[in-house]
Amino acid sequence: RRANLAALRDLPAVTKDGVPIELMINAGLREDVAALDLTGARGIGLFRTEFQFLVSATLPSRDRQQRLYRDVLDAAGDRPVIFRTVDIGGDKALPYMNVEGSAQEENPAMGWRALRLALEREGLLKVQARALMEAAAGRTLNVMFPMVSEPWEYEAARSLFVGQRAWLASHNKKLPVAIRYGAMLEVPGLLETLDLMLPHLDFLSVGTNDLTQFLFAADRAHPRLAERYDWLSPIVMRYLARVVRTVSGSKVALGVCGEMGGRPLEAMALLGVGIERLSITPAGVGPVKAMIRSLDLGALRADMAAILAQPTADPRGQYAEWAQRHQV
Ligand code: PEP
Ligand code: MG
Repeated sequence: RRANLAALRDLPAVTKDGVPIELMINAGLREDVAALDLTGARGIGLFRTEFQFLVSATLPSRDRQQRLYRDVLDAAGDRPVIFRTVDIGGDKALPYMNVEGSAQEENPAMGWRALRLALEREGLLKVQARALMEAAAGRTLNVMFPMVSEPWEYEAARSLFVGQRAWLASHNKKLPVAIRYGAMLEVPGLLETLDLMLPHLDFLSVGTNDLTQFLFAADRAHPRLAERYDWLSPIVMRYLARVVRTVSGSKVALGVCGEMGGRPLEAMALLGVGIERLSITPAGVGPVKAMIRSLDLGALRADMAAILAQPTADPRGQYAEWAQRHQV
């Protein structure tokens, strides 16, 4: 099995009936980039930039940020890297930063974090924007904003980047050849106005870790609630099917970067509802690719409407049974 997974590394992630699936990895530290070669993944679909902030004793300077981003881009070479702007605050509080009130939050996951914090601490986001653009000079920069709840937040963040690009240009700095902007869909309510955002987006990445805890109103880290938190439930799957319908027909590239995509059965269900890009933990790449290569996606999609219409009390069993019957 181990030898098979090693051999899989160089084989394409294509379903049995010929649909190419984009398999990328999640990363956050310099060292993680080695996993690109080890797994044969197509790129980094989520680079969690807050890791550098969390492991630092002081606020990382623009120079230090830039060096990290450049090292990551150098190591990735031709493979794309999607940098997510800092998702700090809430439970990822930084001791050296005065984020007043955050330690006392009753619901830190729903608190003053991620883009909410970054839009108010503009200096922080400006420094990061410049660090990213200078690191990606001469290349394409892919940047994504976390915890977007409403289109105006995305617009404000993108405008800030556009402003910083203009500032760098006016100072004769070398710029990225292109900047692609994306948002994370982690707050369920964003779907209600997602159509308004689509014309201004290059890509959308569903963060199913946060999304699921908000869909179920169940803390993702609470052990007693783990049973209630099923990624294969019709609540999650019907929601994702709606996201796919909303995005389809637009030019926006849609993917999933939550942990569920790293599990073969969950990944299969994601493909079934129409997701064709996954960014997952490196350890999941082999098993998920093996699933993809044995999957008749046409057959699954033909059955998917029936599965979503008639969920059983055990959705996991339902998908497992389908997979077994179709020799996935
Ligand atoms: C997510 O919420 O699904 C996600 C990918 O972001 P994080 O796990 O870093 O919150
Ligand atoms: Mg998240």
